[in-house]
Amino acid sequence: MPFSDSQIDMKKLEVNDYSFLSPLFNRPAIKSQPADRCIFCGTNRYSESRARLGDEHVIAFSLGGNQVIPRASCHRCEQATGRLEQHVTRNLLMVTRTVAALPTRNPKNRPKTLPVSIQRHGIRSLVNINPSDHPFFVALPVFRRVGLLASTPPETSFPGTSRAFIMRGKDAFFKQDGDSFSFTIHPGAISRLVAKIAHAYVWAKRGFDNIYPLLIPLILGSVEHSTYFVGCETEEFPFTPENLHTLSTYEITIGGCEYICARVQLFSYFGMPVYDVVVGILAKDLPSAPKAP
Ligand SMILES: [Zn+2]
Repeated sequence: MPFSDSQIDMKKLEVNDYSFLSPLFNRPAIKSQPADRCIFCGTNRYSESRARLGDEHVIAFSLGGNQVIPRASCHRCEQATGRLEQHVTRNLLMVTRTVAALPTRNPKNRPKTLPVSIQRHGIRSLVNINPSDHPFFVALPVFRRVGLLASTPPETSFPGTSRAFIMRGKDAFFKQDGDSFSFTIHPGAISRLVAKIAHAYVWAKRGFDNIYPLLIPLILGSVEHSTYFVGCETEEFPFTPENLHTLSTYEITIGGCEYICARVQLFSYFGMPVYDVVVGILAKDLPSAPKAP
């Protein structure tokens, strides 16, 4: 389901200097307890030829995430989650990352120009412009309520709206009223990424003892009904001047079943949507980790 410009709730701020963003994106790493098994599939080796598991960022380094779970992902799962993170960060948040000069492991790969769809004098055209001329913006989808919490069946479409925060910048190309630019939001990829972040965050905070994890097939891409587990339970999207992103966990009982949930607000600094995610079922008599396949 595409999002149209008219559905976007925009917040705007006139700024000429993005340097205040850099400290937000470059915070020192915070390490949790090592997992010593893959937090997605449960294996205790990285691959056949390597024992040491890879470190897992709760939120990708490329999005300014600084919380790390040491020894927490195998090669196969790392590739699956890495593809998802690359898709989101390279394709969907490229403008956000490039204009704000977010950390990248490959600075040489930073794009020299950014394609942008501009409507000017009533005519829409695609042009390539210098990143320094591009307005900084963050745009993320607003979802409906979590299917499991609202007792609605699993589905794969994403009816909804989105929210964007835009700082026009010194060389903004909005020359006259009516000028605009448009961008694409991929709600399916964003919701899977949010599921991965929620799963990893619960691991980092409390481990998975007595939790039956619900999100692993979704994170690894074998199912697509993310609206059943990821949604927006609130319409209040606060701005958090102290945090770039804001994460928390909570427990909820529905129909006699206890669930562990995470609340994920990516780019909360800019008042982006708050996502609620059902991460797992709480139960005393469950095995402590997902079994290796
Ligand atoms: Zn794995």
